[in-house]
Amino acid sequence: MEPVATPAPAGALVVAVDGPGGSGKSTVAREVARRRGLRYLDTGAMYRAVTYLVLDSRVDVEDAEAVAEVADRAVLTIRTDPGQPGILADAVSVDEQIRTRAVTNAVSAVAAVPAVRRKLVAQQQRIIADSLADGGIVVEGRDIGAVVAPEAQVKVFLTASTEVRALRRSQQLGEKGMDDVARTLAELDRRDALDSGRAADPLAVADGAVVLDSTGLAVDQVVEPILALCREALAATR
Ligand code: C5P
Repeated sequence: MEPVATPAPAGALVVAVDGPGGSGKSTVAREVARRRGLRYLDTGAMYRAVTYLVLDSRVDVEDAEAVAEVADRAVLTIRTDPGQPGILADAVSVDEQIRTRAVTNAVSAVAAVPAVRRKLVAQQQRIIADSLADGGIVVEGRDIGAVVAPEAQVKVFLTASTEVRALRRSQQLGEKGMDDVARTLAELDRRDALDSGRAADPLAVADGAVVLDSTGLAVDQVVEPILALCREALAATR
């Protein structure tokens, strides 16, 4: 998709945090937003909400045309408070429903449909534009630095070893056994391959992005360098 630039006014900050599942994006992005008093947007939740609607209406996730129709009709409302983020699909809160294994395993197929991406990227860009009057926003996803907000002053690509990512995901799902971790690892690998290999807006390191590997690091050890990048970016605009 062609990037659309919305330059931030002086003093406003747009921070793009991209990376694969389990890299720690959500925790880190929310904490950066909270510490800097910025809004927070989880774009993965938007793709998950459309996937939930697709599954709920018994549409085949591989039927791109039918999936695009569900996305076209969907009304997504996103709360961008980093202390209490959330998402509503057709006026119903779906925060829990979008984290199920069924949604997680189907979301990459839905996110690969160009019409779905066009609609969600446009909504994400409106949310970013609206946040600028409030000082800006931290946006997490897969294509933020390259497509959604190529003008972001801070771009981070967060990664971690596959084993650490699988362990984190398993813990989020409340799993304990090593079989569960192995299954989660296989599912993560499959989702990474689909997200990186798709034609429309694949997961990739954006031009100008700083790559941070969170393997073995505490949250603060990742948050601090991003806050330093934010301070540098703001100083450069003064
Ligand atoms: O970040 P999260 O794991 O919640 O994202 C779920 C899925 O949504 C990803 O695997 C990817 O397929 C899709 N996604 C995307 N572009 C984004 C954010 C998420 O394609 N900006």
